[in-house]
Amino acid sequence: MIWAIGLDDTDYPTGGCTTWQANELEKVLIECGAKPIERRLVRLWPFAVRRTRGNAAISLIVEISSTIQQRCIDAIELWFEQLIYDIKKNDIDSHARPGLIVCKDGDLNESIYWECVRSQFTDINRIISDSSIIHYLSSDLGNDGLVGAAAAVSWKPSISSTFEAIAWRDSSKFGTSRKIPNNAINLLESNHPNTFMNRDPSYDRGLISPRSPCPILFGIRGWSFESTRHALNELINLDWNEDIVDYSIHITNQCSDDHLDDIIEGTVLAKPIKKHGGHVTVEILTISGFLQLISFKEGGILNTKISELLPGDKIHVMGLISPDGYLHIERLKSVYRSPGNLFRPKCSCGVRLKSTGKSGKLRCKLCKYTETSHWIGTPRLSFDWVEPSPSSRRHLSMPVSRMN
Ligand SMILES: [Zn+2]
Repeated sequence: MIWAIGLDDTDYPTGGCTTWQANELEKVLIECGAKPIERRLVRLWPFAVRRTRGNAAISLIVEISSTIQQRCIDAIELWFEQLIYDIKKNDIDSHARPGLIVCKDGDLNESIYWECVRSQFTDINRIISDSSIIHYLSSDLGNDGLVGAAAAVSWKPSISSTFEAIAWRDSSKFGTSRKIPNNAINLLESNHPNTFMNRDPSYDRGLISPRSPCPILFGIRGWSFESTRHALNELINLDWNEDIVDYSIHITNQCSDDHLDDIIEGTVLAKPIKKHGGHVTVEILTISGFLQLISFKEGGILNTKISELLPGDKIHVMGLISPDGYLHIERLKSVYRSPGNLFRPKCSCGVRLKSTGKSGKLRCKLCKYTETSHWIGTPRLSFDWVEPSPSSRRHLSMPVSRMN
């Protein structure tokens, strides 16, 4: 039988990581005789209330023969009890509420994943009363972890899914700074073109090592399993100045755009408003009514392009409507730009015509020539999709280069 074991909410502000805990759990299951098949990593709704860092949950896919089922359940229970105990020792704010779900792979309805990636899902009863659930465990502090665990086991990877190889540090190094080997990023870029998000070109900064106190040393994202594996093999052989205790490759929903609805088409109604701190808001009219868009300073070129919009511009946008009602823009394309820098024409004598006000005429001060009032504008070129630089993009967002 193939089991999917979902795990979530094991991290807290000062440490922890669900990928690391899932790796520990898999070792326990292997000792019981289980055969590991796949690891799935899902990112969930970015505005979820209790998210810690990346809002990721894990599902371990393992083959279990009928003779070891009870042994595995017993081992999972024991491991989970220890996990809760260990977390309570370190999680001073009692943030983490781990949850674990066991079910037959593919049995839990995928609708749970879709609700968790697009909204705040809170219906724990719907999860635990589902007939596909073989076993579930949650923390005495709360059962929030069951939501991500359910989302991870109900997600169905597709041929367009991406991959992330993760290498973990020794526990003595948790919380200390990481030293990326000098040539690591260059090697990835030159030898492994099917990996991505290795460097943020805007800041010329490597993106493979997190800066949080979690157990991950580095992660490599790739478009295929094979290219991710090749890149991982090359990187684990570099000198990291510390031990790599283990590594694994996960299939993920990163870059899937699963959190987004369709492209929204709209017309800009008023000049964008630049707010203190660099964020920009702009109101557009869409087929379903008015919509307020917001973009943040971190959006870089995206933020600049939004601040340059003018009334009458027609745009396509993709983004997430946050609980505050604003659409947080992730990508923008301009399909028509109204003329900018409007000015009055010149008279044949060379003097610029001026409006006479009420008469609706333009008039030359020098030779008294008049004509019907009008403006001349400078054409503004429309532009294709723009997005923030890699470090400011959401894990779930598809890069522009992968659209279509
Ligand atoms: Zn004139």
